[in-house]
Amino acid sequence: MICQPTASHFVDGRYLEDEAGDEIAVIYPATGTPIATVHAATDAVIDAALDAATRAQAEWAALSPRARGRVLTDAARIMRARNRELSELETYDTGKPLSETLVADATSGADALEYFGGLAGTLTGEHIPLGGDWAYTIREPLGVCAGIGAWNYPTQIACWKAAPALACGNAMVFKPSETTPLSALKVAEILLEAGAPAGLFNVVQGMGMVGARLATDPRIAKVSLTGSVPTGKRVYAAAAAEMKHVTMELGGKSPMLVFDDADIDNAVGGAILGNFYSSGQVCSNGTRVFVQRGVKERFLDRLAERVRGAVMGDPMDEATTFGPMVSATQADKVMGYITQGRDEGARLVCGGTRLDRPGYWIEPTVFADVTDDMTIARDEIFGPVMAVLDFDDEADAIARANATPFGLSAGVFTRDISRAHRVIGALRAGSCFINSYNDAPVEVPFGAVKMSGVGRENARAAIEHYSQLKSVYVRMGDVEAPF
Ligand code: NDP
Repeated sequence: MICQPTASHFVDGRYLEDEAGDEIAVIYPATGTPIATVHAATDAVIDAALDAATRAQAEWAALSPRARGRVLTDAARIMRARNRELSELETYDTGKPLSETLVADATSGADALEYFGGLAGTLTGEHIPLGGDWAYTIREPLGVCAGIGAWNYPTQIACWKAAPALACGNAMVFKPSETTPLSALKVAEILLEAGAPAGLFNVVQGMGMVGARLATDPRIAKVSLTGSVPTGKRVYAAAAAEMKHVTMELGGKSPMLVFDDADIDNAVGGAILGNFYSSGQVCSNGTRVFVQRGVKERFLDRLAERVRGAVMGDPMDEATTFGPMVSATQADKVMGYITQGRDEGARLVCGGTRLDRPGYWIEPTVFADVTDDMTIARDEIFGPVMAVLDFDDEADAIARANATPFGLSAGVFTRDISRAHRVIGALRAGSCFINSYNDAPVEVPFGAVKMSGVGRENARAAIEHYSQLKSVYVRMGDVEAPF
């Protein structure tokens, strides 16, 4: 299969090529075969994208908010109508099985476009009475925003950033991960088809350097990054030098607490969703599963039984439920952690093997008897490696769960309603779950505390991060000056 796009970049409403940029091979992770080649954006391409976005933003911001919203809802409709075609491309780009991409990628992108399209007409400032005088606020766009994406959810990330940005009247230049450059181009095509002005949403390809160039360009008012903590620190610092707004959606090592009164099958289901969906390449995954000692062996037995049911077949076959790692680099990194887990004394319950076939396949892997100091309990692995830790006491489990620099997500499984809310109240994380894991509907704010990020995506909360308020004081009488 060949997925070669018309050209590498989408700038000012059309495909654009500049072969002077470094070549980036796009590899299908399930087989390791090249499926496309794109070129990194040169300075000329970046400049063209920024100039086009600056021009389009002025035109777009002058439209009525409801007219802007209609473009986004039309884009959502087109995206849903093309879901299968977009899902197949996403599967080639990422290796994620079609059984996932059909329900989690273009569909969640469409949800964001639809939600923020509907919200656009409701975005207002406020009237502030001050006795005789009064003031009002105007909600204004920031300008041109840079979106920089990770490789695990290329379509969703592009839409989660573009939809609120565009609803507020901004334009965007988006740089996908060099590992998964294809899907964002389709988002650009669809927005144009839905009526967005040329240049409103541009895609430029490239490695970190292209992202860094965007983050420091004076034409960019805001940088929204989805990526790792080390990259987030660099991009945040670069943006801060120019006082740009930022949203940072970064990595995690999130805890999931399973109490002995939990419904074990639901807890096992939550642990599977929170560790093995997208082959574990999900930022919010609950990779430290704290299980109360009384149910530990029952939990592990049921978990191992269900994990062995994972189907690691052709990702294009909808019966396949578990895909490969996105790249050779990521597969090597994950295998390194599996070796370290064994070496540091964790008990391998299931998995642990790299499959002897082309592509980057690693079995879903569960380690038990993991202790807090082990590397697999501390580092974000971003692969299918679950660490199961024991606990006896609630307060102790909360303290251990919080003993991490990360703070993206947290979950609790218990039938005790008071305990559920008490525990979630004490866990330091931005996106939390009770008797569930990893649900991310667009209506709910998504984001992190501590090193896992700043800002919120989705829901009304995202509007605060893509708009700013202008305050206007209105005097109704004479001005009294001291001289
Ligand atoms: P990286 O941090 O390696 O890269 C993220 C993006 O930033 C890529 O497009 C990358 O380009 C770009 N980049 C790298 N260096 C710079 C720089 N100096 N300036 C500007 N841009 C730069 O993350 P991965 O792509 O490896 O994705 C995995 C990480 O993303 C995990 O830590 C995961 O937890 C996190 N993530 C967070 C989510 C969240 O919402 N909180 C959701 C999904 C993932 P390139 O790689 O092409 O060189």
